[in-house]
Amino acid sequence: MNRSERSGRSGRSERSNAVNETNDPNVSNGPNVSILQNSVREIFSEVGALARVLDGYEPRDGQRRMAEAVASIVDTGGTLLAEAGTGTGKTLAYLIPAIFSGHRVLVSTGTKNLQEQIFFKDLPALQEALGIRFTATLMKGRSNYLCLHRWELYKQSFESFGSFESSGSFSFERSERSERPERSERHVFLPIVDAWAKKTETGDRAELRDLPENVALWNEISAEADTCLGAECPRYNECFVTRMRQRAAESDVVIVNHHLLCADASVRQSAYGEVIPFCPTLVIDEAHQLEDVATQYFGCSLSAYRVEDLVRDGERLLPALALQHTEEMTRALARVADHSRMFFSGLALARALHGSGAAQESRARYTAEGLADHFEEGTALAGALEGLEATLALAQPPAGAPDADSPAAGGLHLSTLARGALSEVEGHASGDINEAVVALQRRAGELRHDLRFLMRAADPDFVYYIETRGRGRSANADRPASAGSSGREATRLFLRASPIDVSRIVRDVLFERMRAIVLTSATLAVDGSFEYVKGRLGIRQAEELCVKSEFDYAAQALLYLPRHLPPPKAPAFAEAAAREITEIVTRSRGRAFVLFTSYAVLRAVQRIVEMALPYPILVQGTAPRTELIERFRTTPNAVLLATSSFWQGVDVVGEALSCVIIDKLPFASPGDPVTAARIDAINAAGGDAFADYQVPLAILALQQGLGRLIRHRTDRGVLAVLDPRLRTMGYGRRFLASLPPAPVTHDIEAVGRFFV
Ligand code: SF4
Repeated sequence: MNRSERSGRSGRSERSNAVNETNDPNVSNGPNVSILQNSVREIFSEVGALARVLDGYEPRDGQRRMAEAVASIVDTGGTLLAEAGTGTGKTLAYLIPAIFSGHRVLVSTGTKNLQEQIFFKDLPALQEALGIRFTATLMKGRSNYLCLHRWELYKQSFESFGSFESSGSFSFERSERSERPERSERHVFLPIVDAWAKKTETGDRAELRDLPENVALWNEISAEADTCLGAECPRYNECFVTRMRQRAAESDVVIVNHHLLCADASVRQSAYGEVIPFCPTLVIDEAHQLEDVATQYFGCSLSAYRVEDLVRDGERLLPALALQHTEEMTRALARVADHSRMFFSGLALARALHGSGAAQESRARYTAEGLADHFEEGTALAGALEGLEATLALAQPPAGAPDADSPAAGGLHLSTLARGALSEVEGHASGDINEAVVALQRRAGELRHDLRFLMRAADPDFVYYIETRGRGRSANADRPASAGSSGREATRLFLRASPIDVSRIVRDVLFERMRAIVLTSATLAVDGSFEYVKGRLGIRQAEELCVKSEFDYAAQALLYLPRHLPPPKAPAFAEAAAREITEIVTRSRGRAFVLFTSYAVLRAVQRIVEMALPYPILVQGTAPRTELIERFRTTPNAVLLATSSFWQGVDVVGEALSCVIIDKLPFASPGDPVTAARIDAINAAGGDAFADYQVPLAILALQQGLGRLIRHRTDRGVLAVLDPRLRTMGYGRRFLASLPPAPVTHDIEAVGRFFV
């Protein structure tokens, strides 16, 4: 039987709005219950398909209620907001009705882990349990796939000249190994990629286990939207991204993540990058992350890297152009490279003189006036890009001109060497080069447009800021950077514009085209209401459902709220927090996550607890995240000190994690440009940004952090929040009301007794 035969398509009833009601399976079905809802109810019942087939499956009332609510929305269209506490089993609760609906469904997750869990574990288990046929495609971001077109151009240039540096009269300073490939790196990894590229069926770099994660070569050959020729590409039909899209378009379930979802929506208008096929039903899991991801993708960003990529791809075309175009292109590319270097170095030097010298990452808001000193260099760079566009336009053959391989071709002539190399490698070189020239011209135009937009900094819907990344602590951080070092700093500097309010964008480009939308997460409601998330994501009307956690917090957990710590802003806080953490972790015998809101406090606490505790201490930043989590799981009595990226998406089941300690209420920094702009906008519109934005955002983050502890019915442990503002400030009550329903203690000895 296939899923259409099992769906309620032929006999759907009228819409049911009563998704908050508990439907007793023993009660006869009312007139508003559809065939789909009935099917779902049966599947999740004590004698249903899941209980019969899935090992260890236990029917859960909350899961069944959520599944029926999803069935109702999928049946009739609309939006469902479903907060499903930990242990609900929400993935099955939305997958089953979605699959049975007969509509193609797009599932977007916040993390790659959940994406893979659904594809490799949940869907195969359902296929077996339900005995129905359906197909699914896991889609990763474009940059995970090899671009056949770029790869062939890359190989051709490499084989012809040995390296790109020798082909042109200029080159950028190579400063960041992770961003720009060194020559030795090319020699080591090129044969590995070459052997793999000849046999891969998917083009997914995950198959290339010998290629390190941060190898720069991959940036030059991956299938980015920015460099894609789209349907004009001579490799379009064989392209791995095209084939992935075709597979997805024929699938019943398509699984993506929020990054791909937003990236895809942001390029939908351009016809060059869209890969996700239309799906009438959208499920957004881990929906609390959507606003952040949308903020990243619906903005604008410019860096020296982006200009370097353009220049490098231009250099790569040089051997394929006729002599007079080669010389003009070389000059045009050199002008772009020079002006880019001057512009970004000037900005970097100014940041080094006025910015936060030792910060690992920093973001500072700017205005057009603030950029006045760099206006001339920015204008010169825009002019150089315009010159490059004009040069590229001249290098294209006029419409209807003979094939470029023909001696009569008017614009684009391949050099003998390039023609030989390309035809050997590709078999049809002239079309490739022509399309590559057109694509390069388009990219130069987009860069110029973005540069002007960022220089003007005039759109009131955007916040403009300079971001510097990965700046390490120097030996003498107080000394301003020298002119020589500013070149290196320039490559780590980004000019960005982010939308202050993504609600309209998310509604227009993501939600409005969908028939049915389900947004779900373990943390979506604040103060028992969905108003916050509705406002942030532009949701006007929605059905709402809150399913409490299946876990018995009263028996499984203890909430420890010490009373004696100073306020977080007090100079003594870090030392007092370190002492308290030592006391708690001694009683839990390690086995603890300590989650911080800042690196500064983490480092201060680390120095003390490393001396005081006899347990293995793992610290964020000393190894990749997945490796640290694995080491935590497998190291007895380990303690992990971490900041924001460990507050969510980390699952450690069992005794290895028996204690979660949080140092401060996780308010977003008001010094962050995006947060500050949002606060200003809400206050300017007559709202109360603290109560309506900052507190709800922090409550959701706190719930996520505390949610790391109890991941299974057999888990037990202590949650500790050291921040005294929980009880000293008026807003503390809102946080207290949002904490898990565990017994509360202020006595450290109770923590000791819990672990006896
Ligand atoms: S269609 Fe785009 S991604 Fe695919 S091979 Fe061509 S340029 Fe690369």
